[in-house]
Amino acid sequence: IKKIGVMTSGGDSPGMNAAIRSVVRTCAFYKIECAGIYRGYQGMIEGDFIELNARSVKGIINKGGTFLKSARSKEFMTKEGRQKAYDQLKKANIDAFVVIGGDGSFTGALIFNQEFGFPVMGIPGTIDNDIEGTSHTLGYDTTLNTVVDVIDKIRDTASSHNRLFFVEVMGRDVGHIALNVGVGAGAEEILIPEEDLGLERLLESLRRSKQSGKSSSIVIVAEGDKTGKNVFELKDYVNEHLPEYEVRVSVLGHMQRGGSPSCFDRVLASRMGVSAVESLIDGKSNLMVGLISDKIAVTPLEKAIKGQSKINKELIRVSDIMSV
Ligand code: ATP
Repeated sequence: IKKIGVMTSGGDSPGMNAAIRSVVRTCAFYKIECAGIYRGYQGMIEGDFIELNARSVKGIINKGGTFLKSARSKEFMTKEGRQKAYDQLKKANIDAFVVIGGDGSFTGALIFNQEFGFPVMGIPGTIDNDIEGTSHTLGYDTTLNTVVDVIDKIRDTASSHNRLFFVEVMGRDVGHIALNVGVGAGAEEILIPEEDLGLERLLESLRRSKQSGKSSSIVIVAEGDKTGKNVFELKDYVNEHLPEYEVRVSVLGHMQRGGSPSCFDRVLASRMGVSAVESLIDGKSNLMVGLISDKIAVTPLEKAIKGQSKINKELIRVSDIMSV
C-alpha cells in the first residue's frame, strides 16, 4: 500500500478530526502517502481530494466536527456512482481508504470492496453508540459530557422554581445517551426506545417524588422513546393528570453533536486511527476498529452493520434505586 485515503461520512461527531489526524500521522510514520477525501462518498465521486501530511493536521485534535466535511451521497448508492468513485481513486493513486462514519457508511464501504476488491477499514464515528463491535463509538463520550453539563444547568432553574422538566436527548433507536445522562445527572425517570416503562409508572414516580419533598424533577426522554409520546405530548399528559406540577420542556437538538472532543474521545480516535492504518498495511480489509474491554480490536464490517448494540439494563435498575 502506497497511499491511503481518509474521509468522514454520514452524521458528524466530535473526535472525527482527531481520527483524521491519527490516520494522517500514522501514514506519515510508516512513510505512506495520505489523501483527505472531502464530503464523504460524494467528494470521492467528484475526485475532491487533498494531499495531507503530518503538519496538515496540526491544531485539530481539539476541534469538533470534521474539517474534511461530511455528506450523504445518493449517487454512491448506484453502481455508476461507485464506478466513478473507483476511477477517481485510481486516478489519484489511492489504493485503500479509511471511512469514519456510521453503519450506512460502512455498508457503502463493504459494497465498494465487494465490487472492486478495494481495501477499506471503518472507524465508528457517531454520537449514538449504536454500533456493535465497540463499547464506545467516537463522539459518544463527548456527547454524554455535553448533555450532562446542560442538564445540570436545567436543574438549577428547575429547582429554583419547583418545576418538572422533560428533556429530549438524541436517540431515535437506542437509549444509550438517555440512560447514561439520566443516571449521570440524577433524572427522576428515563424514557428510552428499548423499553416501555409505562405512563402510569411515570405518573406514579412523579407523585412519589412530590410526596417525598423533592423540589425539582428531570425526566430524560430519548427521541424515539417507546411510550410513543414526544416531550410536548408528555407535558400535556402530565399537566392533565398531575396539575400540581409546573411542567417545562427542553429539546436539546444539535448542540449535542458539537463541541470540543473529550479527552476520552481524543485518545480513542488516536488509537483507532493507528489500528486502522496498521491493519491496511498488514493486508487486512473490511474491518471496523473498535474498543472491546478497553483494548483495540477489529470486527468484520458485516457484523458491525448487522449487529444491534444493546443497552446496559443495569443502568435502568440503578436509576430506579437512585430515584427512591
Ligand atoms: P449516521 O449513523 O451518523 O447517520 P451513517 O454512516 O449511518 O451515519 P448514512 O447517511 O446512513 O450515515 O450513510 C452515509 C453514506 O453512506 C450515504 O449517504 C451513502 O453515500 C453511503 N451508503 C449508505 N448505505 C449505502 C448502500 N446500501 N450502498 C451504498 N452506499 C451506501
